[in-house]
Amino acid sequence: LGRRGPDYLQGLNEEQRDAVLTIDGPLLVLAGAGTGKTRVLTTRIAHILSTRKARGSEILAVTFTNKAAREMKERIASLVGSSVEGMPWLGTFHSIGARILRRHAELVDLKPAFTILDTDDQIRLIKQLLEAENIDEKRWPARQFAGMLDDWKNRGLLPRDVTPAESGFYANGKGAKLYADYQARLKTLNAADFGDLLLECIRLFRENPKVLEEYHQRFKYMLVDEYQDSNVAQYLWLRLLAQGRPANEANICVVGDDDQSIYGWRGAEVDNILRFEKDFPGAKVIRLERNYRSTANILAAASHLIAHNEGRLGKTLHTDVAEKGETVAVTSVWDSEEEARQIGEEIEQFQRQGETLNSMAILVRASFQMREFEERFITLGLNYRVIGGPRFYERKEIRDALAYFRLVAQPADDLAFERIVNTPKRGLGDSTLKILFDAARHQNVPLLSATRMLIETEELKSKQRTTLRDLVGQFDDWSERLRTIPHAELAEQILDESGYTAMWQNDKSADSPGRLENLKELVRSMEEFETMGGFLEHVALVMDRDSFEADDAVSIMTLHSAKGLEFNTVFLPGWEEGLFPHQRSLDESGRAGLEEERRLAYVGITRGRKRVRISLAQNRRIHGLWQSAIPSRFLDELPAEVVEVKDTGSSYGGYGYGGRTANRFQSVDPFESVYETPGWQRARAQQAQRKGSGPLTIEGELVARSVDLGPGSGYKVGDRVFHNKFGYGEIAALEGNKLTIDFQTGRKKVLDSFIRKA
Ligand code: ATP
Ligand code: MG
Repeated sequence: LGRRGPDYLQGLNEEQRDAVLTIDGPLLVLAGAGTGKTRVLTTRIAHILSTRKARGSEILAVTFTNKAAREMKERIASLVGSSVEGMPWLGTFHSIGARILRRHAELVDLKPAFTILDTDDQIRLIKQLLEAENIDEKRWPARQFAGMLDDWKNRGLLPRDVTPAESGFYANGKGAKLYADYQARLKTLNAADFGDLLLECIRLFRENPKVLEEYHQRFKYMLVDEYQDSNVAQYLWLRLLAQGRPANEANICVVGDDDQSIYGWRGAEVDNILRFEKDFPGAKVIRLERNYRSTANILAAASHLIAHNEGRLGKTLHTDVAEKGETVAVTSVWDSEEEARQIGEEIEQFQRQGETLNSMAILVRASFQMREFEERFITLGLNYRVIGGPRFYERKEIRDALAYFRLVAQPADDLAFERIVNTPKRGLGDSTLKILFDAARHQNVPLLSATRMLIETEELKSKQRTTLRDLVGQFDDWSERLRTIPHAELAEQILDESGYTAMWQNDKSADSPGRLENLKELVRSMEEFETMGGFLEHVALVMDRDSFEADDAVSIMTLHSAKGLEFNTVFLPGWEEGLFPHQRSLDESGRAGLEEERRLAYVGITRGRKRVRISLAQNRRIHGLWQSAIPSRFLDELPAEVVEVKDTGSSYGGYGYGGRTANRFQSVDPFESVYETPGWQRARAQQAQRKGSGPLTIEGELVARSVDLGPGSGYKVGDRVFHNKFGYGEIAALEGNKLTIDFQTGRKKVLDSFIRKA
């Protein structure tokens, strides 16, 4: 101890040490996953503090999440103890922006206690503005404008910077004016939206050189983690703060990895990292190449995959651990239910071997995938936590949808009524609702019954009466249909006819496509229940058990939220074309979109320390019909040497993936209704092209179309059939177009499209 400096430097490799000790002048640490970038930042802060180069309050450190900030604070405290004065300004861009704004609120026309608006408030405000301008909200949805605002603010544009071209067609070119009105309105409300936390800070600095000067004096050292995902506004904000010294003397240290840039869709600019050396001439660049997190096999898988991207800076990653570790398992299962069951079993097995649940995580591409896992874990009594968002049944869109279904099934459910009576907005204001509530209380009847009575009276204005009459009529209609059509089908009709689906379709904010996917998943899951009542009861039980959170729990989160984290065991489910890479990215951003998806895969794999388990479902059940999914192209991009392919017994074995086994295409878009992407055809053609075969043929043979088969496909139990791979067999059971067949080699589940009558 002590031979080579203080404790906190022990164990660092030479480059890391260099990065920690080079505290004066601009520094860029550009390095791959798991090389210790975050650790270097933390140690740098410890170093600055313990050498008394600066006090805590003179250090600005930006992390990507609040959680990361908390962890960093703990680490620093443990490295330097409580002997140092004050903690650094450590947090996300937004939290630090808010802190600065509150100190100078008056200068940006706010009061220090200003509120930070949530999305709902923001939408309400925009609607008022649209109304004031006589702009038809149906034609120009408020949510679309909210999306535009977000984009402008991420790009650092004030109302005066918004050109007519920027503003586009929205509200016939009134975008910039609306933006100005919106900002003015925020001031009267003493409020700021999320984007303002940085943008107003930038304005504050630009318009008040004295204030900026104060921060130049204050922040002697600046540090930024995950720099590859900073956007323009964040970049401008940092540049302003760094201007206290000549650029070549700025004490700013940024760390990042161009291969982990995954927020391009939210305006992040990977160019920021590429530009750093230009912005800060003479900047020192340190590359870290030794990975301390993952096994050699995991690294090989990740490096091989990411090598398929073009335009990378290129980095080397290696580990010094001789042991290669476990292979990366790729498991192909029948469907997502089996996927959840399988992963649940593995988790329990690892747990029996002494691993904690905290050391395991499931990283999904889209949040709708979480439902299957949550339900499975609840059944198993396995503790889990959802990171970076609510649990599936706690999501707003799911709660709203459930409220509709509950009210159809149980017209006396007043909580459900309250939730949806004005969602989507129907122009029923508080005064109308108060009349409903009063009537219900006085008559001692449920709200829906009270409404039914009121619409026959003159208590309400005629406009509201009409609206409510329509609504009650719809509920009567739905209740009627509940007796005649399958409940999942009805559920979809309810969401469409009530305008609820349209509400999110018109929403142009970044999370609305995910919400629509969640709704589809909800409807899909209903098919597993006999009745609406059975489904609702199940949900009630699941939600009830949700409330408990244990100390030791498996983490479930999206790949986007997993950045910077690490787990011994990482499960990566749903590696299917259209889901991952996600069709939306391909459709909207083409090659760039694909590359961002690939970086996301890279982030996923590199979260694993000991083992990474990838899985894919061969089938998705959509409208009661089983449809085949195509394995993700990313599977082809993993090096065969480190991958072990597993095919579970109950699945259709002929469905291999990649170039290793014959790939079978079907003329059906498995994601058609889940993702609503016409681009599927294109994806399939592209994939076929890559494989060097036409879209529908394999070795010249036309592959069956399951689209015109289905429940009435003409087979019955006992039929003798022939299957290309498994040979002759006899049908043991049928479920829609999913058949269980006894072959000579054993019992298998297959799709009817792959067999013919023998
Ligand atoms: P990411 O790109 O995923 O954010 P990173 O580059 O920030 O990764 P860290 O999270 O800082 O990497 O480090 C990865 C793991 O390696 C951590 O568990 C860290 O404690 C460990 N580690 C880093 N450097 C060393 C070292 N010199 N000796 C031992 N362990 C180290
Ligand atoms: Mg990190």
